[in-house]
Amino acid sequence: MDKIILSPSKYVQGYNTIERLEVYTSSLGKNSLIIADDFITKIIKEPVSNSYQNSSSNILFEKFNGECSKTEINRLMEIIQQNKIDSIVGIGGGKTLDTAKAVSYYAKIPVVIVPTIASTDAPCSALSVIYTDEGVFSEYLFLSKNPDLVIMDTKIIANAPVRLLAAGMGDALATYFEARACTAANKKTMAGGTATKASAALAELCYNTLLSDGYLAKLSVENKVVTKSLENIIEANTYLSGVGFESGGLAAAHAIHNGLTVVEELHHLYHGEKVTFGVLVQLVLENAPKNEIEDVLSFCKKINLPVCFKDMGIENINKEKIYEAAKLACAEGETIYNMPFEVTVDDVYSAILTANSLGEDFSS
Ligand SMILES: [Zn+2]
Repeated sequence: MDKIILSPSKYVQGYNTIERLEVYTSSLGKNSLIIADDFITKIIKEPVSNSYQNSSSNILFEKFNGECSKTEINRLMEIIQQNKIDSIVGIGGGKTLDTAKAVSYYAKIPVVIVPTIASTDAPCSALSVIYTDEGVFSEYLFLSKNPDLVIMDTKIIANAPVRLLAAGMGDALATYFEARACTAANKKTMAGGTATKASAALAELCYNTLLSDGYLAKLSVENKVVTKSLENIIEANTYLSGVGFESGGLAAAHAIHNGLTVVEELHHLYHGEKVTFGVLVQLVLENAPKNEIEDVLSFCKKINLPVCFKDMGIENINKEKIYEAAKLACAEGETIYNMPFEVTVDDVYSAILTANSLGEDFSS
């Protein structure tokens, strides 16, 4: 099988980078559509407009309607045709960014991704999640390429809620362990081939960065300031984890996250929070070294990431529901089959309950 690594064409990260948007986007298009929701537009409209003031490039702001749905994508496609738009810039959270990527794919124009939070590793990937107008999951849209440009403004991210940064660290925590498992099994990654040494190195660097800088980064955001640690964590959550998961491979942790979506009481949690517990379950499943499990538990506690159902707001667990979650985690095509050994529903059920007790013990 071929080895493949994917990444965005360019990644830029800095303080007040939004004020230099024109510098980075002008080579991609001269007539850009900028989409953002009302809340984000209030923050970015002035600096973005200023950056284009003395430029030969034009920009058109358009409100993002809140759902990455076919209706919204088609609406934006019409605006693109009517205004001869030649590039699209998405500024905001996951759904805004996924919509910008999807529109770029259908309109065959370059896309610039400007996340205003560092809560998942999705921004760098060649993937959009499409929902119905009512917000129900519809499909994964596999794009023909990764974004042309990803821009992280550290000042904007420092002012976002700390729980979102922590959730991003939870998502990034899974990257090394899932890539390690997928490589051991010699399975295909999301990039369509087996992992490279480069993606393995990025995944490992991602984990080490979380351990060394995670806590200080959390304190930085609590104070709404940028430190070297926060810079390192923004890079780990977005780029290292982004390339690390896509080209390093997913395994049990994300499959367990997907399984846990059947438990309604967990719907209020962020993706990365549920993935965190998925990591713990994967470590139990593979009987990882105990010092490694302790490192992960200590890290999660410092960052306020959940390590048991109590942390996730469930006092009494319903074992039948947990068995259903285990079943869904083992659905056909799930990435749990990228583990380097056979995994059954009973194995996953046992690992979930054991990980939960382990997390509870560690918390008490
Ligand atoms: Zn994830």
